[in-house]
Amino acid sequence: MTAEILLAIMVALVLLNFMLDSMLDYLNDRSARFSKEPRIAEFYDQNEYQKSTSYSHEKYRFGVIDSTLSVIITVAALTLGWFAFLDDLIRDYLANELFISLGFIAILSLISSIVNLPFGLYFTFKIEAKYGFNKTTLRTFMTDRVKGAVLSLAIGGPLLAAIIFVYQQFPDWFWLIGWALVSAFSLLSFMFGTKLFLPLFNKLQPVPDGELRDEIERYCKSQGYAMSKLYVMDGSRRSTKANAFFSGMGRTKTIVLFDTLIEKLTTPQITAVLAHEIGHYKRKHTLTMFLLSNLQTFALFALLGWLLGNPILSEALGASVSSFHIGILAFFLLFSPISLILGLIDNALSRRNEFEADKFALDTYPNSSEHLRDALKKISTDSLANLTPHPWYVKVHYTHPPILQRLAKLS
Ligand SMILES: [Zn+2]
Repeated sequence: MTAEILLAIMVALVLLNFMLDSMLDYLNDRSARFSKEPRIAEFYDQNEYQKSTSYSHEKYRFGVIDSTLSVIITVAALTLGWFAFLDDLIRDYLANELFISLGFIAILSLISSIVNLPFGLYFTFKIEAKYGFNKTTLRTFMTDRVKGAVLSLAIGGPLLAAIIFVYQQFPDWFWLIGWALVSAFSLLSFMFGTKLFLPLFNKLQPVPDGELRDEIERYCKSQGYAMSKLYVMDGSRRSTKANAFFSGMGRTKTIVLFDTLIEKLTTPQITAVLAHEIGHYKRKHTLTMFLLSNLQTFALFALLGWLLGNPILSEALGASVSSFHIGILAFFLLFSPISLILGLIDNALSRRNEFEADKFALDTYPNSSEHLRDALKKISTDSLANLTPHPWYVKVHYTHPPILQRLAKLS
């Protein structure tokens, strides 16, 4: 195969991906706006329903502009040789191959955050604000981004440097050592991520004393779950949307309830949501998802080890020197069909886990069929959720089952 054909394949994949995504977005938008689903009336009055469809539609139009711009930039960069240009530019200033790769990836990430910034601002301060969801100040928004950038530089930087170092020094073992490095890193962040990083962005506090704490304590005791692994987080600093999640494992397990959830729901409803989260822990969902993603990383590195050294990858993007950073960029462009399939598998498993966690709540907390149903209903109507997403869109993008499916299984 020649470099030209490979480049043509990359461009075709980018365009195909874009068309597929656009089609799904379009179908989903229509599905939200023109549904004949009778159960909608159980959720929204006419006025609220209007509001929810116009919220969905606004997010859809925003997404079209965002993804169109990004596909134009990507295709331009590929066909006009912008990646090779940046590579050459960095080579004028740096000689060390490791620093060239790090510099290239850093500059590309910086450019992408700058391009994305106006979209993030518009989404948060125009769309989310218009529907009354946004609580973030410009100051918090910007500090979040700066903290995120510093964190990825401080943690992702050394990891990336280690991977590139191994690639350059031990090319034959790169795939295995690289996988081991990424595994070790993701194990650490899986175990300690929430504990270490979440407090940098949010305040976490124990559940306040009172009726709610008594009820939660009673339930946790019945399940052997320690109250010290349960926090209330100030989600209201950023959004009115309610949420809860489970993370970590063993001694590092953590359940986080948003303060917005506590504000909106009754004590038995909150406890039913908590029971669902404990279900994720008891059924070892985070652990199995972690192992699955580790297996996928293994396959990814095996492929990388096989392909990354091939100079045709760099050649296809017009680079004069074969390098880690250009090779990996080309690789991920070619990898997109596989990552679509892996995403379908991950999402299907994740949706199945949600049903299982709901079932756990039903089995362990009295009357949770009613309480969990009311809780989910309240959470989705308050966030103007799309009640009738398109089934294909669900397969590709949903980590949680559509609300109507979930409620059907709860009754
Ligand atoms: Zn869940």
